[in-house]
Amino acid sequence: MNNRVKVQYELQRRRNRKRISLRVTDDATVLVVAPLRTPLTVIEEVVSKHSPWITAKLTQVKQLPPSLPPLTYTTGDRLLVLEEECTLQIEHGGVYATTCIRQGSTLIVKTRKGSGVQAIRKALLGWYIDFGKQLYHQLVTQWMSQIEEAPNLELASIEIAFYPKRWGSCSQKGELRFALRSLMLPYPIVNYLALHEVAHLYYFNHGQEFKCFLDTYMSDWKERQKTMNRLRRQAVAF
Ligand SMILES: [Zn+2]
Repeated sequence: MNNRVKVQYELQRRRNRKRISLRVTDDATVLVVAPLRTPLTVIEEVVSKHSPWITAKLTQVKQLPPSLPPLTYTTGDRLLVLEEECTLQIEHGGVYATTCIRQGSTLIVKTRKGSGVQAIRKALLGWYIDFGKQLYHQLVTQWMSQIEEAPNLELASIEIAFYPKRWGSCSQKGELRFALRSLMLPYPIVNYLALHEVAHLYYFNHGQEFKCFLDTYMSDWKERQKTMNRLRRQAVAF
């Protein structure tokens, strides 16, 4: 008797695959990637064997906070700023260039007469970029003043980047970049990300020394990192 749970999954066959791999996506799809010629019975067996893991993953994914609807750049759109939900408000028909300001939990875009969605998007992005640059600048400077050792890389610049997947980066020239969507995450996570990239000015990889460094300055960084990855659906795409 086989008492394993039957799992529904999507199968993709790939020419250059040597092994079967399983993944549970953020929208709770079980994705199985297999080599071209692996028999279905073998795939079924692998899926069945991993059904407890799949069930656990599915439960985890279903508990993720729901993502916000895609932006339409019209009044009523919802966005996050450091986890706080803000509503977009468009005020049409001004005489000056299109701008965006924040008032409490409202992001107000005042458009110039005749300007369209692209101008609204640009103004909104501009607001996030300015906000992000200022915030990360403050956090990075704060961390660097706390750390007594001299970094291996001199801090060159802090930029906000349109990373679709990664949260941040540090270049060999000491340029720190933070994903725009990271600005939608809770403040403790953003602060962890700032420390993480600062740590790369001292250690360029994710080796043991890098981890010890993080332990020294933020004892719960692993928790924050896990939360950061769990919240990846939270950020809306521009
Ligand atoms: Zn890193």
